[in-house]
Amino acid sequence: MAKVLIVEDESVLLDLLTRHLESEGYTVVTASRGDDGLEVARREMPDICVLDVMLPGLDGLSLCRILRRESDMPIILLTARAGEVDRVIGLDNGADDYVVKPFSLPELTARIRAALRRTSKRSDNQLQVGDIRLDIAARRAYRGDKELKLSHKEFELLATLMRNKGAVLSREYLISQVWGYDFDGDMRTVDVHVRWLREKIEEDPSNPRHLQTVRGVGYRID
Ligand code: CA
Repeated sequence: MAKVLIVEDESVLLDLLTRHLESEGYTVVTASRGDDGLEVARREMPDICVLDVMLPGLDGLSLCRILRRESDMPIILLTARAGEVDRVIGLDNGADDYVVKPFSLPELTARIRAALRRTSKRSDNQLQVGDIRLDIAARRAYRGDKELKLSHKEFELLATLMRNKGAVLSREYLISQVWGYDFDGDMRTVDVHVRWLREKIEEDPSNPRHLQTVRGVGYRID
């Protein structure tokens, strides 16, 4: 079941939302300040975010813009007044939807469900790990806003790892997926391509955050 991040500073509402969404089967992570929300989002990698607009620390719209640069997850804004709606919609903040307070719990749940349905449709063509994003159909790769120039094999290797996010893949498996079963070259070809990929996708290629070596087994992206 999906993981929902709720960022809301009214503790009574936060408790109510948490209990309701948990009873619907969601995993819920929470924050009551905008800056904490950003930290929790980066750490927990939720599938969807529900953000209050008026928050201490970092306001909901700013938080929304930062999260949008880093992730494709749907973001639903909670606005306090109908008058805020113009501002919420008018600004290009990257939110997918908004709900005006006071709202009913079934209404919010329905919006969450709809937003998650929309992403699962587009996720076939979009792969994401941290700030690295692949558009499979367009064969484009991005880190944050920046497009990455990847060779054909680098793209295939990254796509294979990202489709199996979190799993350790052996060199043999990667060779079969990326180079084909009839490849009769050196297994070290994989290591060389991993090194090239790290140069492009990692902030610090010698200390990789995403593309990990699992000694004696293979590689994993996380
Ligand atoms: Ca608030």
